[in-house]
Amino acid sequence: MNTPRTNVDAREISKFDALASRWWDPGGEFRPLHAINPLRLAYIEQHAGSLRGQCVLDIGCGGGLLTEAMAGRGAEVTGIDMAEAPLAVARLHLGESGLQVSYRQITAEALAAENPATFAVVTCMEMLEHVPEPAAVVRACATLVRPGGHVFFSTLNRTARAFLLAIVAGEYLLRLIPRGTHEYAKFIRPSELDGWARGAGLQLRNLDGLQYHPLTRRYALSTDVGVNYFLHCARAA
Ligand code: SAH
Repeated sequence: MNTPRTNVDAREISKFDALASRWWDPGGEFRPLHAINPLRLAYIEQHAGSLRGQCVLDIGCGGGLLTEAMAGRGAEVTGIDMAEAPLAVARLHLGESGLQVSYRQITAEALAAENPATFAVVTCMEMLEHVPEPAAVVRACATLVRPGGHVFFSTLNRTARAFLLAIVAGEYLLRLIPRGTHEYAKFIRPSELDGWARGAGLQLRNLDGLQYHPLTRRYALSTDVGVNYFLHCARAA
């Protein structure tokens, strides 16, 4: 396979551009992201410590759900994405929340060339499965984080169960998210993600699954990483 000139899939970007106005509707297409937001914020603080005053980068920030939540915890946050419309929504939303975030349309790779070893915490959530070459994004994360800093990923595992739950149930049966949001072949096994992270000089610190309880419609951390999972790694000090 050829390495793409830039590690961006234009079809993926246009999907998110088209949905941008729906980003902050907690009952809309991004409901699952709203639902997991408190959980992932807690996960980040559990593993990285308090975000207050920390320099944080959110890669593939979209309309800014996690980005703002981290700013709300007192972090100095930069959010980057390659889709223009979600970034515009994210900037507008700051007017409502009164929070401060610096948003930029730039790839992780380009920012890594500009600002290596800059961020105490780097987050890259639900984004790797939308990118042609996810390992290159992982390498950029390792470059962007400071020695001793933390990197957090979340993505979907490439299992039959993830296919059934995230695509068949999520997109077709329950219609929680739009059809075509996810492509099974782009799902990533934790062992693959850990391999890329190790290759980039990051050390695995924690792996936790995310479990959906359909009756309560709530998510909880779980040892079952078969569908959606969080991976925390650190760069040596
Ligand atoms: N991280 C956010 C949004 C996830 S949706 C959250 O979890 O709440 C995936 C986001 O990744 C979209 O906003 C999409 O535009 C962005 N994205 C896809 N490919 C990208 C790339 N190559 N570089 C930066 N952002 C990208």
